[in-house]
Amino acid sequence: MQQALKHSEKLAHMGQLSAGIAHELNNPLGVVLMYSNILLDECKPDDPLRKDLELISSQAERCKKIVSGLLNFARKNQVKVEKVNVKKLAEDSIAGVVIPKNVTTNVVCRTSNLMASLDYEQMMQVLTNLNKNAFEAMPNGGDLTIVIDGDDHQFSISVIDTGEGIPEENMDKLFTPFFTTKGIGKGTGLGLATTYGIVKMHKGKIDVESNTDPQKGPTGTTFRITLPRNAENELGNDNS
Ligand code: ADP
Ligand code: MG
Repeated sequence: MQQALKHSEKLAHMGQLSAGIAHELNNPLGVVLMYSNILLDECKPDDPLRKDLELISSQAERCKKIVSGLLNFARKNQVKVEKVNVKKLAEDSIAGVVIPKNVTTNVVCRTSNLMASLDYEQMMQVLTNLNKNAFEAMPNGGDLTIVIDGDDHQFSISVIDTGEGIPEENMDKLFTPFFTTKGIGKGTGLGLATTYGIVKMHKGKIDVESNTDPQKGPTGTTFRITLPRNAENELGNDNS
């Protein structure tokens, strides 16, 4: 418990720091991107400078992605709760991302009570982050299943993949900002940190189960989010 509190305090501070840095970087970055694109437009296809300009433009584009990830992560701690059909939310989250070839997707409901109060946009972001991670863990194809379960008081959304799984030594680092195993230019390591922040703001929790060892059974990962069914009374705008 103490540990969890410390972790969220640290995240809140990192959020403030990130927001500051992201705001400072946003404008100069926009200028670099705009001028490199203007110069690219003026460049003839065989101009030797073209390759350099393309590199500047693509790297500035990448920086913009990081900055927008930081701004998302540091988003003001407020939730706008509305009544949402959780099955529709899950389906929307799949419809909103590009599904790789060889991956099947499925939404399974184990409860008939599908209405819950939550911040639709923020939960969409949570599920989008989890879906993307699931797809990225299945480069050779597999199945993504979202399972919805619950009772009168709470409900859960599990995002289950049949990917490579998460090694034991990485389990503790998953929600730490900037932790990524995807290499330079691919991951920002902000998806799960942002997810953690949003789930906490909904007074929910997130559990992870994973298997990397085919000898022990099918490999893959489950991220399960558990949230109060009627969050209105429980929501605060703090980050605890
Ligand atoms: P990013 O996707 O940019 O790397 P995330 O915060 O979304 O950042 O994820 C952090 C890391 O957690 C990933 O780099 C990966 O190592 C691991 N991870 C997250 N989800 C999964 C998953 N479904 N299967 C395997 N590894 C995962
Ligand atoms: Mg990610």
